[in-house]
Amino acid sequence: MNGFPFKPLLFGAGLAALTSAAPLAAEPRQEILDAAERHEAPLLETLETLVNIDSGTTFEAGLAEVEAILEERLQELGAEIETHPSEELGGNTLVGRLQGSGERDIMLMIHYDTVFGEGTAAERPFRTEEGRAYGPGVGDAKGGVAVILHSLAMLEELDFDGYGTLTVVFNPDEEQGSLGSRDLIQELAGKQDAVLVFEPTLGVDGVSSVTTVTKGINYAFLEVTGRASHAGGAPEEGRNSVMELAHQLLQLDDLDDPDKETTLNWTVIEGGGTRNIIPESARAEGDMRYFDADEYDRVTEEANEIIADRLIEDTDVEFRLERGRPPLPENPQTQALAEAAQAIYGELDLDLEAVEIGGGTDAAYAYQPDAEHPAVLESLGLVGGRYHSSDEFVELDSVVPRLYLATRLIMDLAEESP
Ligand SMILES: [Zn+2]
Repeated sequence: MNGFPFKPLLFGAGLAALTSAAPLAAEPRQEILDAAERHEAPLLETLETLVNIDSGTTFEAGLAEVEAILEERLQELGAEIETHPSEELGGNTLVGRLQGSGERDIMLMIHYDTVFGEGTAAERPFRTEEGRAYGPGVGDAKGGVAVILHSLAMLEELDFDGYGTLTVVFNPDEEQGSLGSRDLIQELAGKQDAVLVFEPTLGVDGVSSVTTVTKGINYAFLEVTGRASHAGGAPEEGRNSVMELAHQLLQLDDLDDPDKETTLNWTVIEGGGTRNIIPESARAEGDMRYFDADEYDRVTEEANEIIADRLIEDTDVEFRLERGRPPLPENPQTQALAEAAQAIYGELDLDLEAVEIGGGTDAAYAYQPDAEHPAVLESLGLVGGRYHSSDEFVELDSVVPRLYLATRLIMDLAEESP
């Protein structure tokens, strides 16, 4: 690609901008920009419709309602539809396919579940105020759903079908780890030349970015078994699992590796139940983030050495790590896509940061560690912030640039590899 200067800068905890686009002289493709402008208001209508239906993960009635709308919209765009139930968490993954006249296969994907429970949309429905839109899931990730639908409509209006197969994937379970869709995502992604993922920007509030690197996630579990006994009558016969858990948590507080940017934070504890009984069992859960796959073994080994030191003899302590999303590591295919995106944003005289984030997304399932393809790029949804909170927002002035970016990128990718 074009030789952009790399301008690394740091801007906040756990977030580093890897590159920043240099200003480009290239003019925008006017017919694409016009189409993006025509779709600004319709996109916001689509977004309002989607946001006003609660579709928290596992809330099957709401997921089905959103799914029906997405299926209808994809059909109107000429897509063939398949549905795959998410057995683990409920709801269906929708796969839509558009056949083109070209050769390169491109996948567009994003989830349509949110973190918000039933009743949230009624409490605080979609609204716009001072240049921002608000509502449950407005950015994460219904904005991304809307960008995909309207980019497809723009391609149709522009009479563009230069791709081989354009595959659209809307999954219903991302917010709880995509347990019922990750295998399908991996399988479909393996057949693509490029995969574009439409999470909202995951940088600092309001900064326009794409994501090139995401950390992997593991779930840590610590289980302590002691012995129950009456706390008044015979405490000496008990083995206090809660005290042992406290001791172990303090010992296990330093499994991080700052050089490798590995973190492990203990976030949940449970133990005991009745005030006059020495507690028999106690447990904790932790959240581990990493880039280096070897960290799984390193942390497991160190933790097992550490827990051998007991406060209370005769207690049983078990540590285990479960694998969550893998990382999306730094890689040249993603970097090339990010640079292509920066060049497209440059045509609009806008800056686009390429960022690395601590959170995991489905982009990591699309990435195939041992293969050159597909090239995967994350965070092509709307620009916003405060995701998963009651003041989650998107910037209204990001709608046109994001439609232009997605549509233009699909057209470029259909014709050549960046
Ligand atoms: Zn999301």
